Amino acid sequence: MAYRNFTLTTDAGIAHIVWDMPGKSMNVIDMSVMDELDAIVDAVGGDATVKGAVITSGKAAFSGGADLTMLEGLLRDFHAKRAKDPEGAARMLFDGSRRLSQIFRKLETCGKPFVAAINGTCMGGATELALACHARVAAEDDAFKMALPEVKVGLFPGAGGTQRVMRMADSQQGLQFLLQGKTLNAAQAKAMKLIDETAPAKKLVAAAVKMLKAGVDPVKPWDQKGFRLPGGGIYSPAGFQFWPAANAIYRRETHDNYPGARALLQAVYEGLLMPMDQALTVESRYFAHVLQTPEAANMIRSLFVSMQELNKGARRPASVKPNRIRKVGILGAGFMGAGIAYVTAKAGIDVVLIDRDQAAADKGKAHSDELVSKAIKRGRASEADKVALLSRITATPDYEALADCDLVIEAVFEDREVKRVVTEKAEAVLKSKAIYASNTSTLPITSLAEASKRPKNFIGIHFFSPVDKMMLVEVILGKKTGDKALAMALDYIKAIKKTPIVVNDSRGFYTSRVVMTYIREGLMMLADGVPAAMIENCGRMAGMPVGPLSLGDEVALDLAWKIVSATRKDLGVKYVEGPLDNILEEMVVKRERFGRKNGKGFYDYQGRDKKLWPGIPEVVGKPKPADAFDVEELKQRFLVMQALETARIFEENCLTDVREADVGSILGFGFAPFTGGTLSYIDGMGTAAFTELCRKFTKKWGPRFKPNRLLKEMAKTDARFYERFAPEKGPDAGEREAA
Ligand code: NAD
Repeated sequence: MAYRNFTLTTDAGIAHIVWDMPGKSMNVIDMSVMDELDAIVDAVGGDATVKGAVITSGKAAFSGGADLTMLEGLLRDFHAKRAKDPEGAARMLFDGSRRLSQIFRKLETCGKPFVAAINGTCMGGATELALACHARVAAEDDAFKMALPEVKVGLFPGAGGTQRVMRMADSQQGLQFLLQGKTLNAAQAKAMKLIDETAPAKKLVAAAVKMLKAGVDPVKPWDQKGFRLPGGGIYSPAGFQFWPAANAIYRRETHDNYPGARALLQAVYEGLLMPMDQALTVESRYFAHVLQTPEAANMIRSLFVSMQELNKGARRPASVKPNRIRKVGILGAGFMGAGIAYVTAKAGIDVVLIDRDQAAADKGKAHSDELVSKAIKRGRASEADKVALLSRITATPDYEALADCDLVIEAVFEDREVKRVVTEKAEAVLKSKAIYASNTSTLPITSLAEASKRPKNFIGIHFFSPVDKMMLVEVILGKKTGDKALAMALDYIKAIKKTPIVVNDSRGFYTSRVVMTYIREGLMMLADGVPAAMIENCGRMAGMPVGPLSLGDEVALDLAWKIVSATRKDLGVKYVEGPLDNILEEMVVKRERFGRKNGKGFYDYQGRDKKLWPGIPEVVGKPKPADAFDVEELKQRFLVMQALETARIFEENCLTDVREADVGSILGFGFAPFTGGTLSYIDGMGTAAFTELCRKFTKKWGPRFKPNRLLKEMAKTDARFYERFAPEKGPDAGEREAA
């Protein structure tokens, strides 16, 4: 039989299966891959001349895992069928969603040993395929990565992953790996016993063949009598210590907001009490259940489908030819500039890193040295990578070095005058086609572009800190920004492998403006008499990564005070003073509590430790008893405030794409990911209910909760953002990569 996605050849009794999907840069698991894999397992299992099989990939990576749009389709069919035939619909969903699991089990029990030769990135369903094989050999290559990241899109590994990991690895390590969706390198995967051997990439298949020839047991340990779990069973002394703690950790980490993580824990716990076949059925049942939760649907849409569309340039002007970016200039080698230099050089692009003097520029370059050295220690980079990366960065105070840059990113002090001077100095040497971007966090791009002789080439590229870790980049269009500048910004962000959103110019753009409302709501709660610890806990329980007071300290309270003061000055008589001004003035002006940066803010900092500052009541008064407040309402205040601000920004046309609102909110400031993002949160309850809630909060907590015109209008018909503003799908929306 001829296969489209695989080649199957036999050599000296060994079947060689090479996975190499035509027309794709990455192997993914879709329907046709499942069909063919199913047939291949039958062919190998049924061929008496074959003693064993090696499965590897013909691409640079092994595979990105399952194409989750397949599950989206399955869910659509399920919902369409459910009204007429609920039982049939449920069976269809269960059978459909466990098909991969059954193919892998067939492979595992077909009587022939399979060895996975994993040459590079191996994600999700592909990791589950590797684990179903009878042995695994990984390439000794920095490109090797292995993960089961399904929890990150609201699911869990549903093709045997939960059961096999826990039967192979130590319980604690295994559960952490599953619950965090963490990525392992080859050494880590081997230490966890998820990989048996490593070999140089070029000798990978030979190593797999050698393993087969030396004898690989076609019967898995858990299918043999007397199998014992490596971490001790559930009802073992180790199990008694581990499981109650595991439950507590789950609650601490998720606040029970993620049905996928909860079901994962249940599937593991119950599955480990059973033989493999029943355990896999239990896993499948939980998987089919989780698939139907709104949390999974929202997370798949925002964090898989939309994110990939944005990564692939959904907002890129199609008329502009793709740019080859060879050299990027960075002005300001401070905190942000140094980080931007690192991610740029890491992407193989030459960097000119400029500061006021050589020492300051060198200090910025030293940051890259530090980061790449850390990566080497963790086994994620080699000495050769370090040499190559550092050789790409030229640190200098000399603007002449910018002459042949394709793009310049300015990250000097947040000061109009300083920014004006460097814009003029850079433009004096830049080639006429070069694009100039500012990393400003607050200053409108249109006004900064006034310093430029070519405002068409002027754009905002707003990074988040720490630059090497944060995946979002916010692109800001000034009034005169042209398509070429936008295309360049998006091509650059794609090259450094980050996710872009594109917004129109306004004060605070999108992310900064919304995240400030989260911090503000925390301060308003302080003024309402809510105990500080309760505010912080409710923020995290609502799904935010940190409490609002803690975030205020990180952003810096003096900066917040500066922004409030500037806004007050700009708005003049229109500015409504509130408790926020008093709290910030007390903290910053009177007590010099600036936040983490000077070791004192709402918290006292000592090294890595921090404790809520006991003096908070001196500033805001004695708190009321905790039971004077409803926890659910406090949680809602945080999410409603941020979602409402997003709806306003959408109405003002600063945000124009629902996908960008959602993806930007999760990647930019960690807005409760299980909701799918700020606008999905509103859609989830419906605009009618959301608007009603805003009205209730306006009465109770103040006019900042007043619903905007767009919301009120949508509420009349309970319209949804994703229906009314359905994004246009670009030409390549159908081709997706990985899970
Ligand atoms: P920083 O103070 O750490 O760095 C600024 C650097 O610019 C310094 O090294 C300084 O020597 C240099 N500089 C000043 N004038 C210069 C000149 N004329 N020529 C060359 N270099 C000059 O500040 P930062 O935190 O890196 O912020 C830089 C920009 O990025 C600001 O616009 C800020 O608003 C923005 N931003 C900051 C963050 C953040 O979290 N810190 C996040 C996003 C955006």
